[in-house]
Amino acid sequence: MAILERISRNIDNRYWNPGAEYFPVKNRYTAGVAGQRFFEELKENGKFFGSRCEACSVTYVPARIYCERCFNRLEEKDWLDVGTEGMLFSFTVVHKNKSGEPRETPSIIAAVKIADSLLFHRLGECKEEDLQIGMQVKAKLKPKAERKGGIEDIRFFKPL
Ligand SMILES: [Zn+2]
Repeated sequence: MAILERISRNIDNRYWNPGAEYFPVKNRYTAGVAGQRFFEELKENGKFFGSRCEACSVTYVPARIYCERCFNRLEEKDWLDVGTEGMLFSFTVVHKNKSGEPRETPSIIAAVKIADSLLFHRLGECKEEDLQIGMQVKAKLKPKAERKGGIEDIRFFKPL
């Protein structure tokens, strides 16, 4: 079940048949109100949405429903399209897989600063030696037909 799919009948959440072989958990994680909008915009329109707290002059990406600094509620009017470009804040090159075996192709993982937040994702279509902290990078998205409303809808970020 994709992150944007929902249980449509409340009763599906309320009962567990003790004779069933497994507990009927359909979602392991909820994106929340703001996260759902973020992923819907990403899936449907290929846009990144953030939310801005005017009191703190901070823009959060993905969008949030409250400010982490002053706890102000962030309303619909505070949400904005922040574009799909950001600044390479930091990166690391991963040479081993989860079990410790060498990877055939090293993967580059980056912290990309968009507005006042960091998104962590892969870098692609680049080599480590071409990267510089502070350079601009842009998200490369999956084609719309392949997007499912999750972070993997972003294939990777690549230098501009
Ligand atoms: Zn604030």
